[in-house]
Amino acid sequence: MTDAIDATDTPTPRRKPKPENTTIAGRELKPSTLMMGLGYDPVLSEGSLKAPIFLTSTFAFESAAAGKRHFEGITGMREGGAEGLVYSRFNGPNQEILEDRLAVWDGAEDALTFSSGMTAICILMMAYANQNDVIVHSGPLYAASEGFVAKVLSRFGVTYVDFPAGASRETLDEVMAKAKRQADEQGGKVALVYLESPGNPTNVLVDIEAVKEARDAALDGQETPIAIDNTFLGPLWQRPLDHGADIVAYSLTKYVGGHSDLVAGSIAGAKKWMDPVRALRNTMGGIVDPNTAWMLLRSLETVELRMQRAGENAARVCAFLKSHPKVAGLGYLGMIEDARQQDIYDRHCLGAGSTFSLFLEGGEEECFRFLDNLTIAKLAVSLGGTETLASHPASMTHLSVPHARRQQLGITDSLVRISIGIEDADDLIADFEQALEHV
Ligand SMILES: *Cc1c(COP(=O)(O)O)cnc(C)c1O
Repeated sequence: MTDAIDATDTPTPRRKPKPENTTIAGRELKPSTLMMGLGYDPVLSEGSLKAPIFLTSTFAFESAAAGKRHFEGITGMREGGAEGLVYSRFNGPNQEILEDRLAVWDGAEDALTFSSGMTAICILMMAYANQNDVIVHSGPLYAASEGFVAKVLSRFGVTYVDFPAGASRETLDEVMAKAKRQADEQGGKVALVYLESPGNPTNVLVDIEAVKEARDAALDGQETPIAIDNTFLGPLWQRPLDHGADIVAYSLTKYVGGHSDLVAGSIAGAKKWMDPVRALRNTMGGIVDPNTAWMLLRSLETVELRMQRAGENAARVCAFLKSHPKVAGLGYLGMIEDARQQDIYDRHCLGAGSTFSLFLEGGEEECFRFLDNLTIAKLAVSLGGTETLASHPASMTHLSVPHARRQQLGITDSLVRISIGIEDADDLIADFEQALEHV
């Protein structure tokens, strides 16, 4: 009821938004702290502690002159981009807050969000590659990324040179030289170096520092950015911008979203690298919607907690699996056997993640028996959610990959891919133990 309102009260002056605070006494606040408030001031939204979901297709201008200035920014006629919000294909409040917060995790100047990881990756590649250009990429890539380069961009005269993820500096020098020759022959340039590390599903790591050295030796680093899909280890366990990558890409569907209830993507890096991608996103659309952006803001508040717990669980589960007689091997970053891969891990990674491959004694039949007997883990593709998931890549995600190429990539019939969630580790171990008894 309204009787609480006292007419004699002096009206409180309308509060002004507080300045953004990212340091205290010279101390840089950590991402996990900044996730609770960065980029949002309750004063601007009736005091609502959490950001409302802004469902609007367009934004009212203060004046006609302000509208003109916005469009000068959007169209690039004036430096610095739009000063405010204009239209929801370009941006919105929920997406802007999300982009500010995502940039924090990778130590990036700027970030852009998209309706899926693949939208982010496709628009990124299209923004950089022109006709006759060459894309250099590591292999294996996420199947849709590899397909986009080989089957879609090829229709527009873009070619590629690929190299195995674990490649040495010597091999990378040869790859860059080959790409340069190919670009010269075609009358184009090397447009983009695109990496994915660790590779799916075998967890083989790319030496980002060696890629940067090879790129810098052969090409103009101001013209050919290095982008990397960091979905498997980011944002907690690998910070590729610290090791020489220019652009980091994510399927936010995985660890960042983390609850297997949304699909979204992002890229982050220096503004200089984001601007061409933003311009193409403005034209094409593909920005994440406000509701999904809001869900991601919620997810970011717990991403560190969730990933830490999942990582600890995976370490315990793998310690159990390692010595089991029915287990032929593990592709887990916490138990690398190759010295060069271990060296890359030590330089690049802050944790072993929670997604790994389990090789069982036997083939498809044994794997299926194992999968069909799991009771906690769900049978599904995807990864990075709160729940444990298991799948059989050879007959599922990688079924369309020719058999010979599958063998070459180590995707055998005896491989089960597992993404560990945040359940109780002992319960998970008990579940894996009883499922292995049925193999
Ligand atoms: C899932 C995934 C993608 C694609 O992301 P979507 O959000 O499904 O479009 C890209 N790269 C990697 C490594 C992935 O795991």
